[in-house]
Amino acid sequence: MLEVKNLRGGYGPVEVLRGVSFDIRPGEIAALLGSNGAGKTTASALLSGLIRPWGGEILFKGEKLTGLPSEKIVERGLIHVPEGRHIFPNLSVRENLELGAYRRGKANRARNMEKITGIFPRLKERFAQKAGTLSGGEQQMLAIGRGMMAEPELLILDEPSIGLSPLLVEEMFTLISRLNADGLPILLVEQNVLQSMEIAGRAFVMENGEITLSGPAAELMDNPELKRSYLGLS
Ligand code: ATP
Repeated sequence: MLEVKNLRGGYGPVEVLRGVSFDIRPGEIAALLGSNGAGKTTASALLSGLIRPWGGEILFKGEKLTGLPSEKIVERGLIHVPEGRHIFPNLSVRENLELGAYRRGKANRARNMEKITGIFPRLKERFAQKAGTLSGGEQQMLAIGRGMMAEPELLILDEPSIGLSPLLVEEMFTLISRLNADGLPILLVEQNVLQSMEIAGRAFVMENGEITLSGPAAELMDNPELKRSYLGLS
């Protein structure tokens, strides 16, 4: 579905991603994990065309995405929900969701809206509320809901659990697995290693701009190195 080969990129003279390769298979949740500064956000920005790759290749459904502008990437169905929510605070919840659909025809809008508010009932309850007055967790749900309105074929979620209370983190991960329940492939970019691996099929762990560990999440959870470095277990 998505194949990333030897992807490189950075900012100014600084190379952040130093040849990263991984793939996402149809229907799976794949987790891209790592601690602060590992390069996860840079990787997702490269995939969605927010920054231009220095080298390597990105293939989506067999077609080359490398170097395409972000609007072309969105048109192909790769939707990125960036870190930090980026909702429109003065618009209502409904208006924010509708904006997510602006590249798609009106035909499916009502159906998509219904599906999304079925998964995130809290958004429905707050339809008329200004987005800026939602709680942090609700804003995160709205950002994801808006991404869903664009009818993704692959959804990239950048740190969806950041800044949420432990209880809400739990809820967020449950909601993400529900988004995937009908087969939507998701790339979950996260620092929250343990909870991500609980819902992911496979995981890729990044350190210093490289992938240092990868494999089925269930196997990685038993990896002694990973336990030591990320789970605080010895
Ligand atoms: P976090 O979980 O803290 O967001 P991350 O794994 O997503 O970390 P990145 O945000 O990709 O890591 O950052 C990787 C490196 O790139 C860091 O050293 C960071 O300082 C640097 N970096 C990120 N954005 C920029 C930028 N716009 N300009 C210059 N350097 C940047």
